[in-house]
Formats: sequence, C-alpha cells, structure tokens
Amino acid sequence: MITPISEDQQQQVIDKSMGVLLQAGGLFQKTFKPVPVVFDLKGRAAGMYCVRKRKRWIRFNPYIFAKYFADNMENTVAHEVAHYVVDMLYGQQNIRPHGNEWVEVMKLLEVNPERTCKYDLEGVPLRVHRMFEYSCDCSQHKLGTRRHNKIERGLAQYYCKLCQQKLAFAG
Ligand SMILES: [Zn+2]
Ligand SMILES: [Zn+2]
Repeated sequence: MITPISEDQQQQVIDKSMGVLLQAGGLFQKTFKPVPVVFDLKGRAAGMYCVRKRKRWIRFNPYIFAKYFADNMENTVAHEVAHYVVDMLYGQQNIRPHGNEWVEVMKLLEVNPERTCKYDLEGVPLRVHRMFEYSCDCSQHKLGTRRHNKIERGLAQYYCKLCQQKLAFAG
C-alpha cells in the first residue's frame, strides 16, 4: 500500500498550483484569486476541481501523487488549475469541462491537454463499495450502503422477488 505524500510535498503542490495560477494570470492579464487546495481525494482520479455555490477549490489525491509525484506536479496540477482559470474567465456553466477553452489554457501553459488519467493504480486505495448481508426465507441478498442506510432509517423496505419475504439484516 502506498503512503500518501508528506506535508512537505503537499506544500510543494500548493506552491506549484499558485505558480501555475500566476502564470495563467500573466497570460490573460488578470489577477486570479488564490484557490484553496486540499488533499482529500480518494479513488481513481488524481485531481478534481470543485464548485459548490460560491465556493471553489481543488482536490488532489495524495496517494496517486505519491506514486507519480513528478508527473502529477507537471500535468495534474495544471489540469485542475486550468479548470479554475476557465471557470473564472467564462463561467463553468457556460462551457464543457474539457472543451476548447480548457484545451486553450492548457496549451498556453504548455502542458499536454490530457483529459483522463492513465496511471497504473496498483497500491492506490480505491473506494470500497461496502455490501451488507440480508436474508429472506429462501436465500441471501447483498445490499449496498445507500439501501442499507434507508432501511436503517426506516425510509424503505425491500422484499425478495422470489419468496416475497421482507429482507432482514443478517448482521
Ligand atoms: Zn478535468
Ligand atoms: Zn427469498
């Protein structure tokens, strides 16, 4: 299993993000407000640009960065910062995420506009889909977290299609 990047490396990533943002500011003759960078991303994506209401931030995957540090510093940082830049320039709702505007910013930053990550993720913890065991009169059933939580909260009941029995949590 891979160890996530150190605080020192996180700082390097933050500095790099700010550097790319300054570079973009120079290219577009604008002052872009610094964007918060966090390292809480898990799963298959190396980075993610997030917008919720008026908040904007960038998430990076500290495991994938640990495995391919130089490559992510070069490509993933610019990829996500470019999402922020086009959002500031055009408004995210007016463009496609990896559309021409984004590709243009990537080219100006002289970074290859790759849309998806091509890393071998061996050793990177991926999101685990937890399953819960249920039983009826005739067999066992596996339910996902969402349905299990609904049952727990009394918001739903599920029945076996074969024996019509209500599914009961088997623990
Ligand atoms: Zn993207
Ligand atoms: Zn049954």
